[in-house]
Amino acid sequence: MARTRQQNVTAAQWSANGAALGTPDLTEPGSYPFGENVFSLSVQRERLPKDVFRALQATLERGQALDPSLADAVAKEMREWALEKGATHFTHMFQPLTGATAEKHDSFYEPTGDGRAVADFSGKELIQGEPDASSFPTGGVRATFEARGYTAWDPTSPAFILENPNGALLCIPTAFASWTGEALDHKIPLLRSMDALSRAAVHALSLLGDDGAQRVFTTVGPEQEYFLIDEQYFFERPDLYTTGRTLFGAKPPKGHELDDHYFGSIPERILAYMLETEDELAKLGVPTKTRHNEVAPNQYEIAPIFENSNVGSDHQQLTMQIMQNVARRYGLVCLLHEKPYAGVNGSGKHNNWSMGTDTGLNLLEPGDTPHENLSFLFFCAAVVQAVNRHQALLRASVANLGQDHRLGANEAPPAIISIFLGAELRKIFETIEAGEVDPHTPGSFLGLGTPVLPSLPMHGGDRNRTSPFAFTGNKFEFRALGSSMSLALPNTVLNTIVAEAIDQLADKLEAKVRAGSGLDEAVVDVVRESYAANQQVCFDGDNYAEAWHAEAEQRGLANLRTTPEALPWLVEEQTISTFERYDVLSERELESRFEVFVEQYTTRLNIEAETAASIARTMLLPAAVRHLAELRAGGIGVLVAETEGLVDELVDAIQALEQVNVAHPAEEGLELAKFMRDSVIPAMESVRTVADRLERVVADDLWPLPKYSEMLFIK
Ligand code: ADP
Ligand code: MG
Repeated sequence: MARTRQQNVTAAQWSANGAALGTPDLTEPGSYPFGENVFSLSVQRERLPKDVFRALQATLERGQALDPSLADAVAKEMREWALEKGATHFTHMFQPLTGATAEKHDSFYEPTGDGRAVADFSGKELIQGEPDASSFPTGGVRATFEARGYTAWDPTSPAFILENPNGALLCIPTAFASWTGEALDHKIPLLRSMDALSRAAVHALSLLGDDGAQRVFTTVGPEQEYFLIDEQYFFERPDLYTTGRTLFGAKPPKGHELDDHYFGSIPERILAYMLETEDELAKLGVPTKTRHNEVAPNQYEIAPIFENSNVGSDHQQLTMQIMQNVARRYGLVCLLHEKPYAGVNGSGKHNNWSMGTDTGLNLLEPGDTPHENLSFLFFCAAVVQAVNRHQALLRASVANLGQDHRLGANEAPPAIISIFLGAELRKIFETIEAGEVDPHTPGSFLGLGTPVLPSLPMHGGDRNRTSPFAFTGNKFEFRALGSSMSLALPNTVLNTIVAEAIDQLADKLEAKVRAGSGLDEAVVDVVRESYAANQQVCFDGDNYAEAWHAEAEQRGLANLRTTPEALPWLVEEQTISTFERYDVLSERELESRFEVFVEQYTTRLNIEAETAASIARTMLLPAAVRHLAELRAGGIGVLVAETEGLVDELVDAIQALEQVNVAHPAEEGLELAKFMRDSVIPAMESVRTVADRLERVVADDLWPLPKYSEMLFIK
């Protein structure tokens, strides 16, 4: 097929590793020097005995469990390689439901009993670890007394060396499960969802007449937004270092009204930081592609080249870690909170998503022939159907406390999930829906000089930045993720719901062909029916407009404004049945996630409330009182009265916050989350409103917190 290859990746690179990992191996000869700290495919090929290498690749291709004797041979070479690189310890790196990564370091060296030590690391240690799982959230999957969990090596995500000025560490990407086999992490369901999608897509491709592909990989390329702040200011702000966001701060006289930051030239210290971050990431095999300033002052973006979802998700966790580590070397702190500054754009993470075959085709890339375009439309229709059916679940997959300050505001996608198809693709779907497409008329179909339809391929130039879910030429961009989030859950959801939709469309296709319809006609019919039933989710207009919120409601689209409204969709009947049918998450595993996320919401909110009360009482109130004393001493009557009024208001607001934060009528769970949302958040806002007014009147040398203008404009 003449379809275009995946961007930036030669066919050889894609399928060399693609067969096993679905990820381009950029360390292949001919690529730029890259991944020197990665136990990559080429390192494995070079170092492993030929038969071991071949057996390992074969098992990976078939997605089977590893033969223990193979593991010993791999472990031996991995250890030798790691020791040569200066590593003294190894760790199984995993992703508990906290959303962060966890690691426990073990030394390679074992004492021999005679005062010496030898380096030891067997296949058993490579494959499986047994951390105490009791301190990780499990949402009731496992009682603490059976605290055992185990970690299992994920051979499809390459091991790597993390360097530190004082040593190096071999990191082994790992899954984390309970002793009874339930997933306690974000990786296992992601891998399961990739398998589910692969099975569905390979089956659909064969119905569409393409028998070449053995596996289909979902791909992800995340665009990560972040803020940098001079570390001096960061350490002077207990709200920032405790909660990740500023709980106080008056609006500065200058914001981003002038638009002088977006895509502006990058200041030298910042550029130096970015270059070093990219360099570190390159060593770890994370291919970064773009960097630029973002809309808000001191806000930036970094985007890697896409990879398969599993590796991309691991690399994204690593990227966030490296970004934060490197910042400190430049006297900066990297803020990944969704909304560090009120009144200033927050940070998101755009999740570019597609499906690629092991033969190098991007299933969401329009092709050169009517047949290729039929298959493209089939898969696009499946995405539209999936997103429509599971809009609320997608919204739930990106819900957290930080996101509630961002989603739905006029800077980020609304809390309503809709799809932007772009004028070209929408016109095609509409024409098909109107029954105006005849796949048999030569030259009258998609891009072949048709009078009815615009030509393909489509270009990413057609943009709608307000859309939460947009088609961008050869992929969909899910734009509602928060900047601090792991990619795993949203992609697990996307893969699973699209797998389901592909199967539903494939069943219809099969039935039509069995009933005697020609393949092309049948595909057009299936696409027509699916689009007709799901087009309510497609919206090309301005997602920020009030009018859209009203229209979306009329269309019956979900508008889930806050985390406590969204999270229950993780355990809705339709979610459970889809996820169980595809063996991605069981009801118990879904419930455990729901519980963990609800608890994270209330815990984080409680920490914010305590921090706000404490800062207000012990830092801001004393400053205001001292200022008042100075005004009194100076005999400035009008100002004394004004400040006295504000101080009284502040005292009242602090006391109200302190009370509401302890007086919870509900003990736990969703009810508590809702109560806190409705009482604690407004109480915090009241404290902030008075405090921010005080910031404008209290003498600058008495005000204890760095101000927005300092934090945002010192670069
Ligand atoms: P934007 O115009 O949205 O700012 P960028 O160029 O900054 O786009 O980022 C686009 C992202 O999309 C990159 O991370 C890129 O690797 C990713 N991407 C490109 N093709 C695919 C694909 N087939 N699957 C997943 N992600 C992709
Ligand atoms: Mg984007």
